[in-house]
Amino acid sequence: MSETVTATQPKARLARTFAPQSGFAPWNDPKKAPIVRFENVTKRFGDFVAVKNVTLNIYEREFFALLGPSGCGKSTLLRMLAGFEKPTEGRILVGGNDITDLPPYERTDVNMMFQSYALFPHMTVEKNIGFGLRQEGMAKADIEARVAEAMALVELQKFAHRKPHQLSGGQQQRVALARAIAKKPRIMLLDEPLGALDKRLRQSAQFELMRIQETTGTTFIIVTHDQEEAMTVASRIGVMNHGELTQISTPGEIYEAPESRYVAEFIGDVNLFEGKVASLSQGMAEIDWVGGGRFKSAAVPAGLSVGQQVWLGLRPEKIIISLHKPAVETNVISGKVDDVGYLGSTSHYHTKVATGQRVTALRANMAQSAEANIKWEDDVWLSWPADAGVILTK
Ligand code: ATP
Repeated sequence: MSETVTATQPKARLARTFAPQSGFAPWNDPKKAPIVRFENVTKRFGDFVAVKNVTLNIYEREFFALLGPSGCGKSTLLRMLAGFEKPTEGRILVGGNDITDLPPYERTDVNMMFQSYALFPHMTVEKNIGFGLRQEGMAKADIEARVAEAMALVELQKFAHRKPHQLSGGQQQRVALARAIAKKPRIMLLDEPLGALDKRLRQSAQFELMRIQETTGTTFIIVTHDQEEAMTVASRIGVMNHGELTQISTPGEIYEAPESRYVAEFIGDVNLFEGKVASLSQGMAEIDWVGGGRFKSAAVPAGLSVGQQVWLGLRPEKIIISLHKPAVETNVISGKVDDVGYLGSTSHYHTKVATGQRVTALRANMAQSAEANIKWEDDVWLSWPADAGVILTK
């Protein structure tokens, strides 16, 4: 029996209708006009640049996630679309119309759900949901119909007469969502909409959001710092760093083909091997690793040149960990296990390699064979196929 351990699937969930096979990819169609366009938008607060020259197209029916660490400018970008902040430079278009100078209440295509929910404590669920419609002066019968529809969508009918303090956090979140949806905006803006929920509730609420977005056909733009949340719900993700959009791609592309170390490290776990390009031929690059040894990679980015400093990025589940040296010439290094994390369905093996750096391999716990039981302090071999990683140049 071999002790070699096989790789597992990426931990991120890449499911849903936006998977490549669904064919939903308006961003690849040059004839499609975006519903939202940020055009060279910059926002300064005094000397501080919160959003830096962002150009971004978002398409009808997209579930777009703005993802980045705290303070990267994602809420500011969303607030500019809602009209609560004004760009210092650039313009914002909705449906081809320049709305940069419109006040929030005139942006009828856009509605925002706030993280704090901002529910009125003295109003029932029903009254909270209908608030915006009453403000608009809609006829009573129409309001009732809209509120009933929104309550059914978020499954809150039996709580119609309760006040917010009589609801759980998850139920309050659904009231806030129903209130925003009742206005039937073309574009829903959600700033950390699930931030107040615990992890388990958050996961079911993510699927609720997806269902509601698909049922209503509304374009959703969500701000989140949670990469798993973005991967779960979004058709595309815009990753932000210090006010700049560093990559805009589908969840699958972001995970499998990050364009920088920043994106690779922000989305999921990644092992980075620093080296120099030794040779390039027929779609294959050889990399001299600083730890000694030569790696081969089939993921060669355009414009790569011999001698260039690069990082080979390898996801933990792409690395095969074994007790005996595999019968391969390249892409194999030795290490020593210095920690094992057992997570039930998977185990993470943290190993130390020649450079002293920590390299993590992940494997699914499919069988409890003695051979597969790699332990702390074991000398191991780490290997991977040439198409397993990405070459990053920045
Ligand atoms: P978080 O997830 O923490 O909300 P974020 O990515 O949404 O972060 P923003 O709220 O967009 O970040 O803020 C971006 C930067 O702009 C932060 O450094 C913030 O302190 C700054 N900023 C935001 N609003 C203002 C303001 N009104 N005046 C001055 N600085 C501001």
